[in-house]
Amino acid sequence: MPRIVRHPERTLWVVSYVPEAIRGLYTTLRHFLRGLFKYETLPTIPYPTIKPGIPKDYRGKHYLLKRADGSPRCVACGMCAAACPARCIKIKAGDSPDGFVEKRAVSFEIDHLACVFCGLCVEACPVDAIRMDTGKTSFVHDSREKFLAKYY
Ligand code: SF4
Ligand code: SF4
Repeated sequence: MPRIVRHPERTLWVVSYVPEAIRGLYTTLRHFLRGLFKYETLPTIPYPTIKPGIPKDYRGKHYLLKRADGSPRCVACGMCAAACPARCIKIKAGDSPDGFVEKRAVSFEIDHLACVFCGLCVEACPVDAIRMDTGKTSFVHDSREKFLAKYY
């Protein structure tokens, strides 16, 4: 059903734009005072003073898990690097001193400037050695090199 929009009669008072200008200034003043004295009632969050709650399964910065004896859980199989669509994981494998584990990672790097935070590395890992539920969603550095996270 068509909606009929009725325009106000174009009186001298209306075409002077004075009432609309006053209404606009009132709205601006209302928002300004609310932000000044009652900002907790605003629908926005004063980030980074107050950070929003991050869901537990949100894909944030990676971390690598360790075994109970403190050794890396990663067995340097390379599955995460193979699954990574951004090709931003670099692993160097070495012999493991543990007789039950053939290899371990001696160097594990993720370039967070290239990473697209898809989580495929976490899905691909057969030993649950890499996770992304750190809750760290923003990390800021002053050089490109510092975005290269070295885990071992
Ligand atoms: S989250 Fe995705 S892009 Fe980032 S390292 Fe893992 S697989 Fe690669
Ligand atoms: S998939 Fe898991 S075990 Fe294999 S290299 Fe990656 S983190 Fe290590």
